[in-house]
Amino acid sequence: MTLVVSLIVVAIVVIAVWLPTLWMRRRGMKSRGTSDVVVRCSRGHLFTTIWVPGVSFKSVRLGTVRVQHCPVGRHWSKVRPVPIDQLSDAERIEAARVHDIRLP
Ligand SMILES: [Zn+2]
Repeated sequence: MTLVVSLIVVAIVVIAVWLPTLWMRRRGMKSRGTSDVVVRCSRGHLFTTIWVPGVSFKSVRLGTVRVQHCPVGRHWSKVRPVPIDQLSDAERIEAARVHDIRLP
């Protein structure tokens, strides 16, 4: 019985955390060794946030979209991760300048 429960827990972790993380890395949204991700809010503001698939204490998750506080515009908004290679140097600097609270 304990083995079955352990296998179920491992399967849940793989599906909820590891696969989305792998998908985000392949799309260039996340680099290895960090949980920081550049996101864009619905008003176009860029900032950096901690994005751990399956874990969110500061946002409401809706698939690949999250509703969370935008520290740039100081409003609540849908945010989406942005692939780093789709940003200009100026946008990367802009996103790195503002990091929201250090919670996933
Ligand atoms: Zn915003």
